[in-house]
Amino acid sequence: MNLKDKTVLVVGLARTGVAVARFLVSQGARVIVTDMKDETALAQCMQELAGLDIDYQLGRHDRHTFLMADLIVVSPGVPMDIAPLQRARAQGREIISEIELASAFISAPMVAITGTNGKTTTTTLTGEIFRHCGFPTFVGGNIDPPLIELLTSAEAVERVVVELSSFQLEAIKSFHPRVSVLLNITEDHLDRYETFRDYIDAKMHIFDNQSEEDFAVLNIDDPLVKAEQGKIRATVVPMSRLQVLEQGIWHRDGVITFRWQGREETFPTAGFKLQGVHNIDNIMAALASTLLMGCPADRALAAVNAFKGLPHRMEHVATVNGIPYYDDSKGTNVGSVVKSLESFPGKVTLIAGGKDKGGEYAPLADLVRERVSHLILLGEAKERIRKELGNLTDTHLVGSLEEAVKLAHRLTEPGGVVLLSPACSSFDMFSSYKERGDRFKAIACALAEK
Ligand code: ADP
Repeated sequence: MNLKDKTVLVVGLARTGVAVARFLVSQGARVIVTDMKDETALAQCMQELAGLDIDYQLGRHDRHTFLMADLIVVSPGVPMDIAPLQRARAQGREIISEIELASAFISAPMVAITGTNGKTTTTTLTGEIFRHCGFPTFVGGNIDPPLIELLTSAEAVERVVVELSSFQLEAIKSFHPRVSVLLNITEDHLDRYETFRDYIDAKMHIFDNQSEEDFAVLNIDDPLVKAEQGKIRATVVPMSRLQVLEQGIWHRDGVITFRWQGREETFPTAGFKLQGVHNIDNIMAALASTLLMGCPADRALAAVNAFKGLPHRMEHVATVNGIPYYDDSKGTNVGSVVKSLESFPGKVTLIAGGKDKGGEYAPLADLVRERVSHLILLGEAKERIRKELGNLTDTHLVGSLEEAVKLAHRLTEPGGVVLLSPACSSFDMFSSYKERGDRFKAIACALAEK
């Protein structure tokens, strides 16, 4: 990709946009940055780009600029269907995501990871394994840092692990990972996609440019993933928790086995710190990807055993009067709450609700009936959730997270657990799932000190 003297429009100036603009300038492009936020809101970003020859069009999108750009690079937070992008597309302008731009300049072999749930855990663990095996590795993408920062940092790496959301996969053209991983597909983001099929199609782009020499690590226990298998050109490496396979990676009786083209490695799960059945999936995906790309089994196992997991994902944050409090604020869709509830035998006080994403809550019904003693609902989605699940267990509606935790404290019987796993995003009441989780932890810790 030759960018010299090309007019390139960067849409969206957050952390990613800053790195994209900086990289484009270094390649000799004429750079214009546009964002609906104004100069005051973006002062910090502009400060980081001070001294670089960049035109800014802030607080607006200028239709003409979109139509005259040689290339448009869209940051991950910007929907691909905003009107100026649609018009530019209709006029034949080239529109790509930051991931596409960055990957065109990266030569180190890449593992790309997508799925509805488990992406960040799997991506982080995959990076840990590579590093433990002696490969200098970049880890980023949908989790910070954005992929483009690998190019602006001039860091020499031998492996790249990139987490991808469905949105980032929408505008790729030649993006070509050595190993692509699809962890699972359940309903999510139906507020941004017209149909569930559109969401699945977006995820499937991860395989578009792979050939038979590349690998697709697929969770064949997931019926939707399995149904897509026939569309993939890469060599499929199946993974399963439910069946023993001829080739691939599977879990049976406390041992993960990787068998591939005559090589067989086994990994006892007894030393794993990550808990929960879903994490077995994440670990299998990380192991398969790294073993296929040159990692020895003993070092890989040592890395998995050392990995403690990430905050806000079933994180034990406090114990109040003998009752454990778990922060699963990252459980932002129904599929992930299914897994968090499956991790407890029963007596759960579940705090859920937040910004509704348009999916069904009904898939939680059996687990709520069997394992949830008290359901405490908050946020924009509380009425909808009550309609679908409220008749299955003792259900309460509250106005704030403080109220929710205090009520949970009063209601939960000895032997129970308090779980924040919202099945919704946080943006109705918080700036992010992190803020929501931190708040939950602070309230729970304050109760513990009383
Ligand atoms: P993502 O980056 O895809 O959001 P995370 O690793 O951050 O995934 O995990 C988010 C939540 O999803 C966790 O809190 C957990 O409840 C759930 N989860 C994690 N891994 C899986 C999996 N493999 N299958 C289903 N749910 C999962």
